[in-house]
Amino acid sequence: MIDLSSLPINLIDKRVTVLGAKRSGLAAALLLAKNDARILLSDSGDVTIPLTVQSDLHKYNVTVETGHHSSEVLNSDFVVFSPGIPNSAPIVKDIESAGIPIVSEIEVAYWFMPEAQLIAVTGSNGKTTTTTLIYEMFKKNRFDAYCGGNIGIPFSSLISETQKDTGKQKVFILEVSSFQLERIIHFHPNAAIILNVTDDHMDRYDHDISLYLKAKLNISRNQDKNDLFIYFDDDSLLKNNLPDLPQKLPFGFTTNPQMRFKTDMTRIFTKDDQTYINRKDIALLGEHNLLNVLAALNVADYYNLPQKHIKGLLKRFSGIEHRLEYVRTFNGVDYYNDSKATNIESVKYALKSFTKPVIIILGGRDKDSDFSLLLPLLQKHAKKAIIIGEAAYKIKNIIDGIINYSHANSLENAVLQAKNDAVAGNVILLAPACASFDMFDNYEHRGNVFKTIVNSLTERDSNER
Ligand code: ADP
Repeated sequence: MIDLSSLPINLIDKRVTVLGAKRSGLAAALLLAKNDARILLSDSGDVTIPLTVQSDLHKYNVTVETGHHSSEVLNSDFVVFSPGIPNSAPIVKDIESAGIPIVSEIEVAYWFMPEAQLIAVTGSNGKTTTTTLIYEMFKKNRFDAYCGGNIGIPFSSLISETQKDTGKQKVFILEVSSFQLERIIHFHPNAAIILNVTDDHMDRYDHDISLYLKAKLNISRNQDKNDLFIYFDDDSLLKNNLPDLPQKLPFGFTTNPQMRFKTDMTRIFTKDDQTYINRKDIALLGEHNLLNVLAALNVADYYNLPQKHIKGLLKRFSGIEHRLEYVRTFNGVDYYNDSKATNIESVKYALKSFTKPVIIILGGRDKDSDFSLLLPLLQKHAKKAIIIGEAAYKIKNIIDGIINYSHANSLENAVLQAKNDAVAGNVILLAPACASFDMFDNYEHRGNVFKTIVNSLTERDSNER
């Protein structure tokens, strides 16, 4: 039996199965193989591994099986788990029954982390925006900053690629999901952020938000008195379950004497009431992004990053593609792409971001969401809803008689209907509150299709097309 209880872990000739041959699985397999473990990379699906990666796997003697999991999996000293595999998968039950430890890819990568700072960001919404913002804050400073995890480059790849010494202090800024946090042992961020914990992925957590919260709180499980824990103070669930750590920093719209940075919506100000930055000098749109900025500022302050750089960045940084992204103004109507708004909470914030009347395109693959929670904000902000996709019928039953709506059988048709219903001064917003897989490959695909349609609108378009 392998001893995973303390670092470093002796991997020489250890049999390790990496479950899942997508990006993070491939990265973990290579990292472990380079460090003398004997790897079986096993994926029950029909995956295509890029040729360059295939040759690396071959070079490091990684055995690859796809289309099934062989009994060899149950001969492992431990198993590395890709976040896409649900705990309910039969193979997981088999591995657990066999008493074989399962760890996540971020845990494995952490074993090889050089002397460096680690900042980890989790939450139901805002992870990518906040992680990227923090990364931008660290760039061009006295640090050598790397960004990845659940976005972009897997942590294991970052570790493999950053062995060279540049003489600067390294800092890893990671977006981490609850799935990745579920199976950690030593993963230990110097600064951890929980942005919010709201209903999402409930299908993976037996519809029990406390299980989801527990996974998120794992981010601080190895933190100690030297580390910083940043949390959303307006979230009562989170607030009532805080870890016992001395350096906890709250952020939010409420006022709490422990807050380093506060907001009254017109500005961000410090503990001693000095204006740090005016709202108009922050390019990011919406209340939710003000929260993300507050969370990120706590990190910048902790690491003493130059204020001039931070303020310049906040003025420039207008967000990330597919997140409340401005597309175009056509005939006086503003078009926004929020394809990443795949849950109720993100759509609520999207609606709150506009003072102009909104025509919202809603629908897609339902994630077992309670769409009635959207009603108050739809009543306040939405002139009309255009409903699409598999969830259209469920949404219709909720908004019928309350919100003006129509049904569209494609995204293109939805945009054309919205265009015809809009007058100058309106906003047309794609914020589906659903996953995209019923009609698109992923949310990026959906957002790109939306933008293409919007960018090709001409005076002649009508909804009869
Ligand atoms: P994640 O990586 O957690 O999915 P993103 O930054 O990609 O977060 O944003 C996902 C969606 O949530 C977008 O629609 C975005 O506008 C919205 N959003 C961003 N930050 C927040 C927040 N703090 N609270 C609620 N919604 C948010």
